[in-house]
Amino acid sequence: MVLRPFPDEPSVQVDCPLCGSDEAHFLMHGRDRLFGRPGWYRIVQCAVCEMKYVNPRPSVEALSRHYPDDYLPVRLPEDGASTMGRRLGRALIDLRWSSYIRAVERITGPISSSAGVVDIGCGLNEFLVRLECLRGCRGLAVDVNPGVARYIRTRLGMPVFEGTLPQAQVESGTMDLVTMNEYLEHEPDPLSVLLEARRISRSGAHLVVEVPYMGGLPSRVFGSCWSQLDVPRHLAFYTPETLEKMLKRAGYRLVHTKPFGAPFSIGISVLQSLGFRKLGRLSPLEALLIALAGAPFLPLFPWLHEFMLVVARAE
Ligand SMILES: [Zn+2]
Repeated sequence: MVLRPFPDEPSVQVDCPLCGSDEAHFLMHGRDRLFGRPGWYRIVQCAVCEMKYVNPRPSVEALSRHYPDDYLPVRLPEDGASTMGRRLGRALIDLRWSSYIRAVERITGPISSSAGVVDIGCGLNEFLVRLECLRGCRGLAVDVNPGVARYIRTRLGMPVFEGTLPQAQVESGTMDLVTMNEYLEHEPDPLSVLLEARRISRSGAHLVVEVPYMGGLPSRVFGSCWSQLDVPRHLAFYTPETLEKMLKRAGYRLVHTKPFGAPFSIGISVLQSLGFRKLGRLSPLEALLIALAGAPFLPLFPWLHEFMLVVARAE
């Protein structure tokens, strides 16, 4: 089979996003399995620092076309009556973010109502909604997606900046907590965003990053069918070691790393390995199939590290 090196879209050759080296080894090919768009992408490993990343990758403008409106993290809730399914979905989302806030506070200490908080790549702003509800703390949301920015501003009535963190021009040394939940793997220039996060943070402030865990058992077992490979939306793949190196370069000291599993992600990996495509739109039937496919793995969860939660302190 001849692999087309890249779909018909503008692409750019990039250097290692961690150390800047242009020496890299080919690792594997990946494709857009979630939405079934054509083309293959090369995933490489830096010969100097072992960072894994997509190269070449679509241009920034071309990348935006890989985020359709029904991509789950940016899919806006529908208007209409509150059904049992919606109430259950809401309860699960609240539970997820309540437990995230408690996990973060166990490391950073309590988040006060006056804390300066910025959430980068906020999606539907579920973390900051829950934080305001539980702690009375109103953070700033930052996201490049115009649809979600409009939703946060008009439907949620919360502070939001549409664009990148550097464009937001937050005052230096004013933030107590910067969060990036399933964002850094999407970012074309992650080091520059981490440097900007450090610039706006007080000394001793915390940064919380949640990213897929490259090198965990699911990434090794499922290979190019691993749900968190998700090229070309995911552009960089972090191990605990490469993430720590990048944080250090940005002026942070790692204080906590916790790998964890996610049943839904395993379900997607299983179905993609069986040849399923275009699961990204997640119809109710597909969601049920994914849950059923992930269920047998529940007893193995202590070993199935799909993501990691990393907390670092601004030096
Ligand atoms: Zn490198």
